[in-house]
Amino acid sequence: MDPGFVRVSPFHQIIYECPSGSIVTTPVALRFCGFCGVKQPLRARHCEECRRCIHKFDHHCPWLDTCIGEKNHRFFYLFLLSEAALTFWTIMIASSALVFLADPIVALQTNCVMICLIVFVSFSFLMSTALAFMHTYVMVFNVTTWEFVSRRRITYLKDLHRDLNPFHQGIISNTFRFLFSGCTYNWEQTYLVNTAIAEYYDF
Ligand SMILES: [Zn+2]
Ligand SMILES: [Zn+2]
Repeated sequence: MDPGFVRVSPFHQIIYECPSGSIVTTPVALRFCGFCGVKQPLRARHCEECRRCIHKFDHHCPWLDTCIGEKNHRFFYLFLLSEAALTFWTIMIASSALVFLADPIVALQTNCVMICLIVFVSFSFLMSTALAFMHTYVMVFNVTTWEFVSRRRITYLKDLHRDLNPFHQGIISNTFRFLFSGCTYNWEQTYLVNTAIAEYYDF
């Protein structure tokens, strides 16, 4: 599935699928990707595994062998939620199959397969639940995992106040856009408005 590959028109302009106001020039220098031969839009990053630049790059998932970007992030989030629910359900069913006996040694021998299954699935449940919480934060506050962990190294973020999120549009708007839009945006407008407001209030 297309995670949001950066595409250019025959006139070498970045193609955005969703209109998001007038396209403006960013106050920060955009990086040029030598592999794709394009100036990376804000929030895009080149993935070495996919060998393409990805809009609103989040991370490359080795388990799914694909990038998680602007177009498939919501499906990844739903995948995490369903995995957490499925593993929890499996733990409940396996727990109900445990046989309780007076002798602990015999009980352990009788239930060893189920206990191994519960331990293994519990690990998957904890992993998927932790990731689901992480990506809920990412969704609600309109950040990406890459921006969250590498803020000090990212050109368009490193000089901003650490509490300023230049892409935040309100919790409801962020969530709605994340879950229902599924197309690539030009984030320059949002970035400029939020940084200008922050500058006005000396934030
Ligand atoms: Zn690239
Ligand atoms: Zn990738």
